[in-house]
Amino acid sequence: MTTKSKLLFIVAIMLLGLGIATIVNVSLNFRDYSIKNAIEKSTMTAAVVKDGLTAHMVNEMMDKRQYFLDQISNNNDNVKSLWIVRSENVTKQYGPGFNNETVRDAIDEEVLSSGKMVTKVHERTDGIIMRVSIPYNANSHPIGINCIKCHDVAPGDTLGAISMEFDITDMRNTGMFTIIKILTLNIVFIIIVLFLINHYVTPYMKLFSNMQEGITKAYSGDFSHEFESTVKGDAKNIVSQLNTLFRKMQGTFGDIKYNLSTFIPQGCVSSADPLYEAKTIIGELSDIYKFKKTIELDSTKEIVYTRIMDILKNKYKLSTFAFYEVDVKAGVRKLINAQDGFTICHANVDENAELCRAQRTKTDVNSTEFVNLCQHCTSNGMFYICIPFTINDDNAIVISITTKDESEINKVNAQTPSIKNYLEAAKPVIESRMLMAKLRDTSLRDGMTGLYNRRFLEEFIDQVMSQAQRQDETYSVMMLDVDFFKAVNDTYGHDVGDKVIVELGKVLKENIRSADLAIRYGGEEFVVLLHNASEEGALNVANKIHKAFANIVFDVGAGETMRKTMSIGIAKFPTDGDTIWKCIKFADTALYVAKTTGRNKIVEYDTKMSESENLR
Ligand code: GH3
Ligand code: MG
Ligand code: MG
Repeated sequence: MTTKSKLLFIVAIMLLGLGIATIVNVSLNFRDYSIKNAIEKSTMTAAVVKDGLTAHMVNEMMDKRQYFLDQISNNNDNVKSLWIVRSENVTKQYGPGFNNETVRDAIDEEVLSSGKMVTKVHERTDGIIMRVSIPYNANSHPIGINCIKCHDVAPGDTLGAISMEFDITDMRNTGMFTIIKILTLNIVFIIIVLFLINHYVTPYMKLFSNMQEGITKAYSGDFSHEFESTVKGDAKNIVSQLNTLFRKMQGTFGDIKYNLSTFIPQGCVSSADPLYEAKTIIGELSDIYKFKKTIELDSTKEIVYTRIMDILKNKYKLSTFAFYEVDVKAGVRKLINAQDGFTICHANVDENAELCRAQRTKTDVNSTEFVNLCQHCTSNGMFYICIPFTINDDNAIVISITTKDESEINKVNAQTPSIKNYLEAAKPVIESRMLMAKLRDTSLRDGMTGLYNRRFLEEFIDQVMSQAQRQDETYSVMMLDVDFFKAVNDTYGHDVGDKVIVELGKVLKENIRSADLAIRYGGEEFVVLLHNASEEGALNVANKIHKAFANIVFDVGAGETMRKTMSIGIAKFPTDGDTIWKCIKFADTALYVAKTTGRNKIVEYDTKMSESENLR
């Protein structure tokens, strides 16, 4: 039921109630009035009868009284029947009278005994009868008629009664007619009132529903509604103010949205409700700001990567993803982290990063677009989205998110722009930490050979050693020195000497594993730490290096060539010494032995060497 219908219904009910109350009131009043009127009329008629009978008595024409009574009854349409009754006194004195002058009912008896008038209304379906009985009491007026003169009664005694039946049905009919008239008038009045209400209220109702529509739209963020009203005056002013307010809101939210989109790329938060959109974007900006402030204090890119992964886990609720770092120049990819090491990518992608479709195309790879979209992974029915992100010309990141649930991957797809916002925020910090690491690496490396320098050994050897001690790892420490190197400089110049050093660096790199460390310790002296190598294995490596170096033919100019040899001393950590430094010292001792016992050889440290005073 609309508000208007409700209003009209209530007004109609109220008016109808009022009408019914009026009708009931009028009916009751009308009934009272009719009865009163009938009593008056009958009393008057009775008085006429009384006077008439008195006149008949005085003129001694009482035997003609029936004619008189009939005349009264016939000339008055309302008088249905008229009769007189005698009291016992009169009957005793003058006889019973005519036959029809006997007591007819209890009312006659009551009036004769009480001497008081009695009226009674008989309402029947075929009409209303008013029954009236008036006593004829004896008076003893000294001047006028004195009943006592002729009647053997005391003054005030009842001589008889005049009884009548009045038909007052026409009064009821008049009443009914009056009620019908009132009812008709009421209905006409109600119709007019309802029509007027409808006429005047409809424009307001239209305005209300128009306002309701506009406010509902505004609630969902749409302020484009134009309010309109045919009602003049205050309503018109309100409508115009609302329109101004809505236009202002629309413009303001448009500006906010435009300005916020400069911070957050379009599409990452998209909603029809600009208020919700603004709130979400500001929330996103605030989160990203906090994230950025935090990572700015992080010292390495690895910590920043960890924070990005925490965001993926905690904010985006991603449980299965792999995080890769891509060395663009080298064309290789390194897995930074994956849950339980699980990844859908084929192993060869790490060696050739261009096989990664996301990395190659620089676009998101979404498996819901095509099954087996990337040819270099085995999804096993899982859905995946791989997000590439370029840090700079040399470095990139790829995040590969997998799930068994298609709806989940669609959710991830919707989150991708937001994830990229975090990557975008992290980008300068990652780049800066990469640069710092590179600079640091440069300061820890020897420019000529690319190997670590002595400073690296001094800074990191304690860490290497404590980790080795914790995990029961061993190191074979080799000290290498080119034999008669000074002579190369002296004979062929420093350039040739430098070339020898560079070539030796290459030999070392080619003959050690990634867990081993090669360090340029000084001039043409090198230290090599072989990780977890057995005595035999360490000797093998030493021999390989020794042999490879000895086989190098150096071009010294003017068509001449030269070969060089080296001496190597070896000590073992922790069996020979409980610190790497001690082992380096013992390896140097063994090298000294090699030098002093003919050079071009490999010597393993023996405790006796330290005991011999002559060796130092
Ligand atoms: P030994 O067999 O006893 O080792 O004799 P050696 O001549 O090699 O003697 P030593 O190891 O003491 O010689 C080191 C020389 O290496 C001295 C120094 O001039 C030279 N040297 C050190 N650094 C460099 C360098 O970077 N370039 C060149 N060309 N020479 C260097
Ligand atoms: Mg030397
Ligand atoms: Mg030397």
